Amino acid sequence: MKSTLHCFLLLSLISTLQPSPSQAGEDFASQKAPFQLPPLPYPANALEPHIDAKTMNIHHGKHHAAYVNNLNAAIEKTPALAGWTLDRLMREINQVPESVRQTIRDNGGGHYNHSLFWITLSPTPSQPSGPLAEAINAEFGSLDNLFAALREAGMKRFGSGWAWLSLTPEGKLIVESTPNQDNPLMHGNFPLLGIDVWEHAYYLNYQNRRSDYLDAIRNVIHWPVVETRFQTAKTPPIHN
Ligand code: MN
Repeated sequence: MKSTLHCFLLLSLISTLQPSPSQAGEDFASQKAPFQLPPLPYPANALEPHIDAKTMNIHHGKHHAAYVNNLNAAIEKTPALAGWTLDRLMREINQVPESVRQTIRDNGGGHYNHSLFWITLSPTPSQPSGPLAEAINAEFGSLDNLFAALREAGMKRFGSGWAWLSLTPEGKLIVESTPNQDNPLMHGNFPLLGIDVWEHAYYLNYQNRRSDYLDAIRNVIHWPVVETRFQTAKTPPIHN
C-alpha cells in the first residue's frame, strides 16, 4: 500500500514536471468545434526586437481570432462537420460540403496555421537536436541551408501565404509554400514548422521588407516543438 502511494506520488510529480501536450498547446489539431483561440504561450512583447508586440497583439487577437470565429460559424451551419477534428478538416478538405469548403479552407487553415505558428516561436533560443537535426543535415546539408530554403520559399510566395518545413508521407523533409491559409495536410504532407508571410505578420515593423522579417524570425524558432512533431508524425495514427 505504502509503495503504491509512493508510486502514485512519483507519477504525479513527473506529470507536473513535464508539461502535457495541452499545456504546451500542442493538441490543437485534435480539438473539435467550438474551436477556441489559444492563448499566446509568452507575453506579446517576448519576441522583440524580431517581432514587435503590436504586431503580435493584432495578429493573435484580431486575425487569428477572426479565423476561429468564422470557422465556428461555418461549422455551426453544417451539422455534418460538428464532430470533425481540426486535423480531419484539413486532411479531408475535399470531402467538406462545397457550400462551406472555401470558408473552412481559409478559416480552418487560418486556425491550424496560427495555432502552430505561436507554439513554434519562443524568446528562448534553441537548436534542432537528435533525429530532427540528423534529418535536416541529411536532407539540406545544414541548418543554414534549411533557413535559406525557407527564406526563398517565403520570398517567392506572391501575395499571401506560408513557407513550410513539412514531412512527406514517405518521411522525407521538404520545404514548400502554400497560398493564403492553405495547409500542407490538404495535399498529404505533415507541417512541422510554418512561417507566416502574410503582410499582417510583419508590415508594421518591417513594411515591405519581407526578407528582413524572414532573416529575423530564425532567431525565435522554438525547435523543441518542431522536434516533437517530427517524432510523433512518424507514429500512426497522427500521421499516416
Ligand atoms: Mn497570420
